Formats: sequence, C-alpha cells, structure tokens
Amino acid sequence: MADLKLSDTRDLTRIERIGAHSHIRGLGLDSALEPRAVSEGMVGQTSARKAAGVILQMIKEGRIAGRAVLIAGQPGTGKTAIAMGMAKSLGLETPFAMISASEIFSLEMSKTEALMQSFRKAIGVRIKEETEVIEGEVVEIQIDRPAVAGAALKTGKLTMKTTEMEGVYDLGAKMIESLGKEKVQSGDVIAIDKPSGKVTKLGRSFSRSRDYDAIGPQVRFVQCPDGELQKRKEIVHCVTLHEIDVINSRTQGFLALFTGDTGEIRAEVREQIDTKVAEWREEGKAEIVPGVLFIDEVHMLDIECFSFLNRALENEMAPILVVATNRGITTIRGTNYKSAHGIPIDLLDRLLIIATQPYTKDDIRMILDIRCQEEDVEMAEEAKALLTHIGVETSLRYAIHLITAAALACQKRKGKVVESEDITRVYNLFLDVKRSTQYLMEYQEQYMFNEAPIGDGNED
Ligand code: ATP
Repeated sequence: MADLKLSDTRDLTRIERIGAHSHIRGLGLDSALEPRAVSEGMVGQTSARKAAGVILQMIKEGRIAGRAVLIAGQPGTGKTAIAMGMAKSLGLETPFAMISASEIFSLEMSKTEALMQSFRKAIGVRIKEETEVIEGEVVEIQIDRPAVAGAALKTGKLTMKTTEMEGVYDLGAKMIESLGKEKVQSGDVIAIDKPSGKVTKLGRSFSRSRDYDAIGPQVRFVQCPDGELQKRKEIVHCVTLHEIDVINSRTQGFLALFTGDTGEIRAEVREQIDTKVAEWREEGKAEIVPGVLFIDEVHMLDIECFSFLNRALENEMAPILVVATNRGITTIRGTNYKSAHGIPIDLLDRLLIIATQPYTKDDIRMILDIRCQEEDVEMAEEAKALLTHIGVETSLRYAIHLITAAALACQKRKGKVVESEDITRVYNLFLDVKRSTQYLMEYQEQYMFNEAPIGDGNED
C-alpha cells in the first residue's frame, strides 16, 4: 500500500455517471414562464418548453389534479428531456415517478398493479404532526425586583420553576421582552414558543396562592414531553401513498422500499390506507400533494392499461399524468384498431397535447456544446462543426453518442483536444441508422429471416 503511486489512484477520485439527460437542470424558463434561449441545459424547443412551464405552474399551485398531458414528436426531439426538466423544476416535496410503458409487463405483478403502484408513487401525503401538548404545571416566574409585573419584566432577570421539572430556567431576553409587551400579570396562564420566543396569553389561573404575589406573576405554561419550553412544534413528513402501502403491507414489510421488491399489494390494504388518509385530511392532519407520473413510450401500453388510466385519472387524488410517444397513427395494442399515437380516442380526448419540433442546425450545435461540457470533452471548433453536420444528416442522438467515442479515439492518439480526424474515425466505426439500413439492403442475403423487399430502403 505504501508504494501506491499518485497515478494509480488518479482514476478513483472522480466516479460520476453521465446519463443521457444529466445536463438537464430545469425547463430554462424565466419568471414570466418565457423560455430562455439556452438555460438550465435546455436549448430551443421553445413552445413545448413554455407549454410544459404552464402545466408546471398549475401543478405547483396545486390547482390541477388528474389532468393528462401528451408530449408528442419525432424521436430525439427532447420529449424525455422536457419531462426531466419538469421533474427538476418541481420542489422536493412534489413526487415525480417515471416509467417506460414496457416496464409494466413483468411476470411479478399484473399490468394494472404495476400501473397502480406507479400512480401511488406520484401521490404525496404531507402529514403534519404536532408534538403532544400537555397542560403545564404551575410555574413561578421570579423577577429580581418584585414590582409591577410589566415594568419589572422589561429589565428583570426572569427565571422559572416548575413542580415537575426541577431546575430553574432562564427564559432569555427575547421572552422577557415579549412578556413585557403582553403585560403578564400574576396568575396569568401563558404559552411560550421557544424558537421564536413569542409568549401568548392563554387566560388566567384562579388557583394561585396569595403568597405568590410577593414573588411575582404566577404563570402556567405549556410543557412539551421533551421538556422543551415551547408551545407547539409542527413536524411535517412527506411520503408517497406507495410508501405507506408498502410499510403497511404485511407480506412485504418496509424493507421492500429499499429492494424495490414490493410484489402485489392487496386491495384491502390500499382501501384501509385511503380511509385513514381521508380521516387525517378531515382532521387537518394531512394534505394530498398530487405529483407527476411520467410514462414514456406510452404506445407500448395496451387497451386494458389505457382503460385503467382513464379510470385512475377520475380519482380526486390522481397525479398529473405526462405521457410521451414518438409514434404516429398506429395500432392500439390489444386491438385491431388504429389511432393517433396508438392511444384510444377517449383517453386522447382528455390529453393536453404538447408537440415537439425537429431541431435546427443551431439548436443541434448548442446541444452538442452542452453535452461536450457535461462529458468533459474538449473539442476543436472544426470538429464541432463536423459533428453538427453529422447530427443534421443523421440524428441528434447519434451525434451525442459520438462525443465519448471520439474522445476515446483522441485519447488513444494521445491528443488533448478532439479534432475532426477523431470524429471521422468514429463515424466510420459506428453506423447510424441510415447507413446500417443501407448495409442491410446490400448484404441482406447473408442475414437470417430477411423479409425486406429488394430495392426498398429507409424503413424505420
Ligand atoms: P424518443 O422519442 O426516441 O424517446 P425523445 O424525444 O424522448 O426521443 P430525448 O431522449 O429527450 O428525445 O433527447 C435525445 C437527447 O438529446 C437526450 O440526451 C436529451 O437530453 C437531448 N436533448 C433533447 N432535446 C434537448 C434540448 N432541447 N435541450 C438540451 N438537450 C436536449
């Protein structure tokens, strides 16, 4: 170990994963919800971003529940990026759950159960808990000058004794001041909020003994179980309905929250929880925070799932549903019918539709710039121009993928800055969709189960 050289350890210092959307930090809107040209990792796509911002505002104000939004557009036009931007702009308290539609087809649970769990992951419950308040003991407040209470409190040192809590408590200058303002008299009953030092007069005690008059005002205060001198303390917990479900599901137990292995949760458990939460809401102990459920590749859902969604959106606790697809008119899974985006017309009718547009050359250039920064890749201007050209001719995603590959090619030739030659090298190594299709058309006889008619090209 002693021989460990600096060069051996160098690579361990920065272990950081760079995801496809790690550069997205928000929607990049100003306070008037106008999209900034380049902001928070977002570029272009202004009208879609603005529309997403309006939805976000409504979510933040808690004004809508059970609405659904469809982000539709060609592949690679930033649909997922916009959803990520929305998630990043939501406060920590607003839950955001994200799934790809194909994830719900698992063997471990039914499709609708998987959807239900996703829905409940996107519904937050703010539970307000007040520390239990015990009516306080009789307390003496001693003032060094036993004079008229109000006047003495302004100057006097204030100590307090309780019958149960042994000891003398110094209430501090803030409270003295506050008491002075309240003009506390002997026999007053007060509550003291320790953090702010605010004193509230609750009423008068009639049980005081005459002897106390000589000492000063006799007060009662509200004592909290931990012995803190404070009135009430509100603790707020934010959990999702799904978390409450899992914790209360006897078959799984709360550890399933960590493993994610929750299995199916029985309907009775959910009913009980819903009843309990409804009770808390009535008592003012809890409020529901509808979050956002994002379902990517929504055309992968089938007709049963779509009817489930329709119904689930009717629930008053429903989150905002954001779905995305790159499909045009296509078959609705589980039926022989076709419809726009492969979504049944009744659900389609509920959706607010946000369309994303293909990117311009400048947009692509700027997104590539941001990705280079994100991936810590230094690239020469000429190489960037070439990569942008490739992005325009092929796809934005393909161009983004070439960044890391080109950086590796550059590293291999011991270069520091990615040059055009590196881009050309990896462009020739990795095929984009067009060239791959072309290749398949040329060599189709050598592949198994080939069905493409000769001479046809460009299938998606
Ligand atoms: P698909 O239909 O194939 O799912 P998509 O529309 O969801 O595609 P994204 O995955 O969001 O496309 O975009 C492709 C890549 O480009 C991602 O890395 C994404 O972060 C980035 N990107 C897309 N649009 C923008 C944008 N406006 N600003 C910054 N980065 C973007």
